[in-house]
Amino acid sequence: MATLRFQALKETLNRKPVKIDETDRRSDLFGKNVFNEAVMRQFLTKEAFNSVMEANISGLKISRVVADHISTGMKEWAITKGATHYTHWFQPLTGSTAEKHDAFFETIGDGLAIEKFGGNQLVQQEPDASSFPHGGIRNTFEARGYTAWDPTSPAFIYGTTLCIPTVYVSYTGEALDYKTPLLRALQSIDGAATAVAKYFDKNVNRVETTLGWEQEYFLIDSALFASRPDLQLSGRTLLGHSPAKGQQLDDHYFGSIPSRVLAYMRDLEIECMLLGIPVKTRHNEVAPNQFELAPIFEEANLAVDHNSLLMDVMDKVAERHNFKVLFHEKPFQGINGSGKHNNWSLSTNTGVNLLSPGSTPMKNLQFLTFFINTIKAVHDYEELLRATIASAANDHRLGANEAPPAIISAFIGSQLTAVLDELEKVTDGKLSPQEKTELKLNVVGKIPEILLDNTDRNRTSPFAFTGNKFEFRAVGSQANCANPMTVLNTIVAKQLTEFKKSVDSLVKDKKMKKDDAIFNVLREYIQDSKKIRFEGDGYGEAWQKEAAKRGLSNNKTTPQALRAQISKKTIALFEEMKVMNKREVEARHEIELEEYSMRIQIEGRILGDIARNHIIPTAIKYQNILIKNVRGLKDIFAEDFKTHSAEQLEIIKEISDHIKNINSDVTNMIDARKKANKIENAQDRADAYCDNVKPFFETIRYHCDKLELLVDDEIWPLTKYRELLFTR
Ligand code: ADP
Ligand code: MG
Repeated sequence: MATLRFQALKETLNRKPVKIDETDRRSDLFGKNVFNEAVMRQFLTKEAFNSVMEANISGLKISRVVADHISTGMKEWAITKGATHYTHWFQPLTGSTAEKHDAFFETIGDGLAIEKFGGNQLVQQEPDASSFPHGGIRNTFEARGYTAWDPTSPAFIYGTTLCIPTVYVSYTGEALDYKTPLLRALQSIDGAATAVAKYFDKNVNRVETTLGWEQEYFLIDSALFASRPDLQLSGRTLLGHSPAKGQQLDDHYFGSIPSRVLAYMRDLEIECMLLGIPVKTRHNEVAPNQFELAPIFEEANLAVDHNSLLMDVMDKVAERHNFKVLFHEKPFQGINGSGKHNNWSLSTNTGVNLLSPGSTPMKNLQFLTFFINTIKAVHDYEELLRATIASAANDHRLGANEAPPAIISAFIGSQLTAVLDELEKVTDGKLSPQEKTELKLNVVGKIPEILLDNTDRNRTSPFAFTGNKFEFRAVGSQANCANPMTVLNTIVAKQLTEFKKSVDSLVKDKKMKKDDAIFNVLREYIQDSKKIRFEGDGYGEAWQKEAAKRGLSNNKTTPQALRAQISKKTIALFEEMKVMNKREVEARHEIELEEYSMRIQIEGRILGDIARNHIIPTAIKYQNILIKNVRGLKDIFAEDFKTHSAEQLEIIKEISDHIKNINSDVTNMIDARKKANKIENAQDRADAYCDNVKPFFETIRYHCDKLELLVDDEIWPLTKYRELLFTR
């Protein structure tokens, strides 16, 4: 093993940046491999083109006849771009994307062949995908799953394959993927937000969700990666002592990008341009070898597809540069983890960002309405929001070094806090003309100016308002954004629906003016949702105590956090908003619990293997060297030898102690695993893995890491943190 480590280091040190030729402008490359509007105008009949645009805007179904036209146009275009195959591209609940390629090529008898791609093949497929997770939805008698074209996300060519974004549903129409519930949630918030936006502007007839994700990741040389079985199999290091220098000096953040990495980034960005992923920002992150990539925000469904595609492209481009991308939320203990901030807002068909204040008091009241309703929604469903970001990997990050805690709170900045404090004082019932003028002039009217110098940037808040959008920061780096986006949009849709009901009833029953009614309902919301607002240090001990006092949830582990996914309140919410039915909700819950148990199980196996088959033998080898040394000293010094070998003897004993502890902990961990595996119920099994198996990871690691400090570096088998993080 140690030979592998040194070979890997040598290989890494000899690498040169890959040369990237960039002759075309990025703007010329943008969308070249996408079946976008410009291409559709060229390759589709007018009727077919209009049909796709209609489907895009109002969700109208596309007829089979028109689908035939579209597929023919798509095929012609794809062939001119060198594509030979097509695939339905979807996002099953495994967390990665799935595709099965079929050739356009088809025989027509007499030894002849043609390229064919019919409407049927475009619109629907039945992939043999029986091994994707389904949480009991696909019983054997209804085992079929279908992929169906999502015309709102354009087809694209990757490599030589035409990829058609699709949803993935069961025979009975239940969602088996991430996209289906997301599309339903987006539809739900469109309806609810449009109805409310109409209070302020009658011309609004559609509200779109916008999402701008920020993807954090680590890059490790592929040879170093291959020298660490834990990284290879679990995506994170299960062992490894902290390096003498980590990120204390903050010298990596926003520093100059290492040249091999820059070549990778440029290569990746060019690929993104061709695929129509509008990447814009790149920089070093806080930890050594950690980086970030962010695009210009887009409509949420498209943004989610683009993020899933990006993660795939990142892996593929990395191969050309001898890198491995680590998407894991916490690849290295004691070093910053990776997240994927989800910047979220709502935008009208009239081009207005509903979370951006405007130039008139009325527009600002609109802003406040959406702003306060979002906070109220987060308040009411904080525990569900926490559940959407739960995973075995993110558990290491939430509450750990420099990361959001497992408590959900909202940060809005001191200026907006002052505005809400003012609004909280408005009169119960009808407002006097003076009060209204005063409000409009001095509170609502001042919002744009306030936001101009709203420099408050609380990096410790999991859900922060950042000027014209909310930033959900607790999302993990390898997560599919669809999950948190589905929940966030659903809870805000529900909240806006309630808001409209309350305002309408005050107008109708209490004969209030519309803006009086709005002020009244907002006042109630501000009062009711106070406990979710927190402006202080989210990482501090004090907040944990304060949050407990406020009655906010603090679910530190995934099995605990996921419970909120199947509460009565959650199921009622999803059913009412028509996002998921009870069966779909329960299936997802079960899948996530299973995944949790499996991840811990895999990590436990790897750790046991490394500890017993790599670490203990190495420790014994070194101990034998010491024993030989002590024997030699005895030969030379006779009775004096104890003075001269005191340290060696001490180390020999220490090594024995660590070996003993490791060995017994591994035995006990295996026993705990066996017990957990026997448990039938998914929740109980996940609890057992969390409470009885996982704790051994820490103790085993402790002793292995101590040995790393004792044993001769020459024979240590695992590539060390210092080497993983600082060699490039
Ligand atoms: P930072 O948060 O790092 O200071 P920015 O404020 O520029 O950076 O934005 C970060 C991300 O927010 C970018 O990916 C951007 O596309 C996204 N973003 C900006 N405006 C919106 C919006 N209205 N809706 C959704 N995302 C947005
Ligand atoms: Mg950010």
